[in-house]
Amino acid sequence: MIDDRKARTDEIIRRLKQEYPEAHCALNFSNPFELLVATILSAQCTDERVNIVTSSLFRKYRKPEDYLSVEAEELERDIHSTGFYRNKTKSIRGASERIISEFGGEIPQTMDELLTLDGVARKTANVVLGNAFNIAPGIVVDTHVSRVSQRLALTDNTTPEKIERDLSELVPKKDWIMFPHWIIAHGRAICQARRPKCAECVLENLCPSSLLKMR
Ligand code: SF4
Repeated sequence: MIDDRKARTDEIIRRLKQEYPEAHCALNFSNPFELLVATILSAQCTDERVNIVTSSLFRKYRKPEDYLSVEAEELERDIHSTGFYRNKTKSIRGASERIISEFGGEIPQTMDELLTLDGVARKTANVVLGNAFNIAPGIVVDTHVSRVSQRLALTDNTTPEKIERDLSELVPKKDWIMFPHWIIAHGRAICQARRPKCAECVLENLCPSSLLKMR
């Protein structure tokens, strides 16, 4: 076990990079606005389900104005299967309104501006900035990143904001966009919530939570 957290993080990144060379944003999108909508829809929903819904949604609604040109109930029906459809409809329509009125119809490219949009917190802003604009003001912390980072003892914290702060001190800035993709890929394939497959894990000898150590 490499004791020093920073050195361990470097080695974890090296191995994950090798293990998941194809890791990327799992949400389908063809422009920043679509990624914003897909990310809002992904709250409490799988990326697979979001991609099914957006495959027809993005043909019907192409720009912010389109989400405002229908009744809220129609949009609610169109996104119904992603869950929390009333709140998500409010967020998408609210964000669309502000994108039109304050940002000339374009998605803003700073964290502060994105955070003024309905339904957008740091995670969504980091997803959009990193994956649509290649800008990394921070690190995306979702449920996989939270769980795996805690198990790997890269953080002692449990709230996304504090985990993000801890990770940003350990992960080199050049890897801030890709790090969550590698960790999410690992969380889905190996370090699963209920039954982590520690015996198959390439990080096993770097991980204080390995079940193999507890035998
Ligand atoms: S050793 Fe187990 S707990 Fe640690 S990262 Fe791998 S799968 Fe997760």
